[in-house]
Amino acid sequence: ASAFGLDTALKQLGLKEINDGTSTGINSFGSGELITSYSPVDGELIGKVKATTKAEYEKVMQAATTAFKDWKTMPAPQRGEIVRQFGEKLRELKEPLGKLVSYEMGKSYQEGLGEVQEMIDICDFAVGLSRQLHGLTMHSERPGHRMYEQYHPLGVVGIISAFNFPVAVWAWNTALAWVSGDVCVWKPSEKTPLCGVACQNIIAEVLKDNNLPEGISCLINGDYKVGEMMTNDKRIPLVSATGSIRMGKIVAQAVAARLGKSLLELGGNNAIIVTPDADIKMTVIGAVFGAVGTAGQRCTSTRRLIVHESVYDQVKNSVVDAYKQLRIGNPLDENNHVGPLIDTDAVAMYNASLKSVLQEGGQILVEGEVLKGDGYESGCYVKPAIVEADNSFETVQEETFAPILYLLKYSGSVENAIAQQNGVVQGLSSAIMTNNLREAERFLSAAGSDCGIANVNIGTSGAEIGGAFGGEKETGGGRESGSDAWKVYMRRQTNTINYTTELPLAQGIKFDL
Ligand code: NAD
Repeated sequence: ASAFGLDTALKQLGLKEINDGTSTGINSFGSGELITSYSPVDGELIGKVKATTKAEYEKVMQAATTAFKDWKTMPAPQRGEIVRQFGEKLRELKEPLGKLVSYEMGKSYQEGLGEVQEMIDICDFAVGLSRQLHGLTMHSERPGHRMYEQYHPLGVVGIISAFNFPVAVWAWNTALAWVSGDVCVWKPSEKTPLCGVACQNIIAEVLKDNNLPEGISCLINGDYKVGEMMTNDKRIPLVSATGSIRMGKIVAQAVAARLGKSLLELGGNNAIIVTPDADIKMTVIGAVFGAVGTAGQRCTSTRRLIVHESVYDQVKNSVVDAYKQLRIGNPLDENNHVGPLIDTDAVAMYNASLKSVLQEGGQILVEGEVLKGDGYESGCYVKPAIVEADNSFETVQEETFAPILYLLKYSGSVENAIAQQNGVVQGLSSAIMTNNLREAERFLSAAGSDCGIANVNIGTSGAEIGGAFGGEKETGGGRESGSDAWKVYMRRQTNTINYTTELPLAQGIKFDL
């Protein structure tokens, strides 16, 4: 670890003293079960964090609800100023935080830096937004009346995040929630707890510098049991949960049972359609990066390539050739393209999917394998695989969070490809590679892709913070980040004001006394 300057990075992020797992503090770590964080990069122990107990959770909620009382009345542009300062701190700490993300989660250092850049970008976006939390004005049907709507802070927002974007997903939520006047309680993935503590340390310093209570941003640690404290808590009007479909179904039901709101960002099963008019060179870059980037552990990773029969062999050969160039190894070493999976459970799922797709009749084009030996001691490194398959296979219908790409064929018109693309339960990201305007527009039309994200001549993987991010069907329907995603973090109020001496009723109803 020290070879890549990680020791220094951990110190810069204030993580030194938690290595023994004995420190305590309301907003940092608790006194419950010990969570140990091992790096998938080299299998070394990075640090330990104690889970939040029920009693500690109560203290956190008290801190949050108390902080909300003042925070909600602070003018939104002043809240934006706090978010601006947070973005500045992130700029200062971009390298150490990017390194920790890479080391604890296993994505490449470049992607770790990219994740912190996304945090910075969403802060900038939120600062501007803090002066633009607009409502509409409407014309009243009654004379001498004015009608308008305004957006008010919602309350305590619960954030549950996945391991694969251990810092950016929190920032997408929290930066918007803060300018909206909400306070946040965050439960990061138990697989990346130190990223959570590092982020909390950064925001805690900003809040302290501004004499604001740390309850504005709270951290709780633990697995689903700690997550359930939030989903069942009536004091939390909105739970934003990112993770698997399995988790989303449980969270959605728990939150709905108390008529709370949930914002769900769940699994994807993303496809690129390659038509006879595709630029094959661009297609190969988009598909290979989409399938093997982050070792196939992005919610927007390319899982299926749906290729027209007329270009099928050409695409197949080019993608298979490209896979031969891939270098697999330590993600902090910039020469490598593919890093490890998060843990050995993920490796077991990769193996199980490869086995079951073969049983269903899949044909291996690039063989998968768990890598052993020098540099692969953590047991988490696998070879990206390509399998010729059919969309109807159960294995293809599921999201396996690993670098397995399924090659599917279509014939005839683009409608046949769209039917395959839409023929799964997930609806996150989709793409078409074509220079044919008719095909592209058909793909983007109401009869086209049913996903929350639909791209033309770009792969499925990655998104800009300026757009609303999320997906349909079992991906959960939530939208985060840009566009008007902020509205979910606020409550809307319709106001009608009468400035006359009469009291006319709506719909012309007469009520004479
Ligand atoms: P996961 O579902 O195992 O865990 C996600 C989070 O949910 C963790 O913090 C976990 O502790 C918590 N959790 C699990 N069960 C819970 C319960 N019953 N109540 C409350 N909290 C609970 O997912 P993961 O393995 O960390 O992440 C991978 C998954 O996340 C993939 O399916 C991926 O597609 C999805 N993901 C989606 C998006 C998106 O924006 N759509 C982004 C990133 C990841």
